[in-house]
Amino acid sequence: ILARGRDVCRRNGLLILSVLSVTVGCLLGFFLRTRHLSPQEISYFQFPGELLMRILKMLILPLVVSSLMSGLASLDAKTSSRLGVLTVAYYLWTTFMAVIVGIAMVSIIHPGSAAQKETTEHSGKPMMSSADPLLDLIRNMFPANLVEATFKQYRTKTTPVVKSPKVAPEEAPPRRILVYGVQEENGSRVQNFALDLTPPPEVVYKSEPGTSDGMNVLGIVIFSATMGVMLGRMGDSGAPLVSFCQCLNESVMKIVAVAVWYFPFGIVFLIAGKILEMDNPTTVGKKLGFYAVTVVCGLVVHGLFILPLLYFFITKKNPIVFIRGILQALLIALATSSSSATLPITFKCLLENNHIDRRIARFVLPVGATINMDGTALYEAVAAIFIAQVNNYDLDFGQVITISITATAASIGAAGIPQAGLVTMVIVLTSVGLPTDDITLIIAVDWALDRFRTMINVLGDALAAGIMAHVCRKDFTQDTGTEKLPPCET
Ligand code: ASP
Repeated sequence: ILARGRDVCRRNGLLILSVLSVTVGCLLGFFLRTRHLSPQEISYFQFPGELLMRILKMLILPLVVSSLMSGLASLDAKTSSRLGVLTVAYYLWTTFMAVIVGIAMVSIIHPGSAAQKETTEHSGKPMMSSADPLLDLIRNMFPANLVEATFKQYRTKTTPVVKSPKVAPEEAPPRRILVYGVQEENGSRVQNFALDLTPPPEVVYKSEPGTSDGMNVLGIVIFSATMGVMLGRMGDSGAPLVSFCQCLNESVMKIVAVAVWYFPFGIVFLIAGKILEMDNPTTVGKKLGFYAVTVVCGLVVHGLFILPLLYFFITKKNPIVFIRGILQALLIALATSSSSATLPITFKCLLENNHIDRRIARFVLPVGATINMDGTALYEAVAAIFIAQVNNYDLDFGQVITISITATAASIGAAGIPQAGLVTMVIVLTSVGLPTDDITLIIAVDWALDRFRTMINVLGDALAAGIMAHVCRKDFTQDTGTEKLPPCET
């Protein structure tokens, strides 16, 4: 038994360490909350976790570019287009299914009833245009400057502008105040309630195209995939660049293999640091508790039943064995809330534990980390309907369909970084005329839900690679290392 235990530990050492680090991180975080650390002390404490994020982010760019270019260049035109069409169709299909699960959950649990606003000031009019985030999505697909795309993405900035009345101050209508409470206090009469009836100034929203910090992964994916396809068509004349990309890819994976030993240490501080920062759980209360439970139930149904069953029916293989192979990646997703940052580990798990053909992983994973976000889509649909329920706003069938389509689009537009889904939620809310300001209602629990939905996003990408490897197996040789081009040493 001892020998078997030693063997299990040797083979799964890193995974065991990662599970331990998540547990230690949670315990340490809750313990240190009782010590009331100052913000300065918290930021020093978070430093090892910050380093973990920096290492992962550092690897994203070379990994995405090299894997897509070398992966697609090593396939012939027919295989790459078949793989491309099947992958994108599968991604859209599973994302839409996730949205349906979310809508079913939020309709059954109805979390908005517990949080209904007493007065509803919702006018039914959207405050911002949903066209802007959609245009940003398309702009991001075609970056004007590739270097800029490595650290900035397009994001239209919408700012409120108060329209001041165009009348001289002396001509302006007098302020109308209604006093409706008068009270005796120490023998004198005190008015203590007043209602300002002056019409509020008109606020309009002005949109200007702008940029925000963060890599434009979508633009880089589109450029690298196109380059990869073109390099494949160039034949021998493209071989040097393809060889370079293969070498780059191999070397990044070697860096990953070394860096993973730092991750369990980093995870402890990443998780404990976040727990130190979070709001007092009692302030979140029952209102958001139901909402959070709805999102988590939806994620569990989609991640533990629908996706594994799909994998089982298509491949006839055991999904539990497959998921066990990517547990390390799921833990990193939980710790970092970023599917892009998790990408290097997802690659490592799929190649080493699940033996997926590297040419498939090189295409399916970077594209998935950018456009396939089942967890995010599910959460966007739940959040939008929750906000409608809170506002006592009855959605008709057409509006529910609109939510399902826009939640799918919004998840495609969300970057694989922490809380990106919160930003693209504007698309969903404005599409059915819900107040975008109500996004603030759900912010308190978003950091926690983000971790779970990122796990489902990563799980969806990994299972997709397993399914594509099965569906396209005839197009690929059995040897996972074999490629059309010579190995990089030549
Ligand atoms: N954090 C998520 C991811 O990286 C995106 C989101 O839903 O905010 O996949």
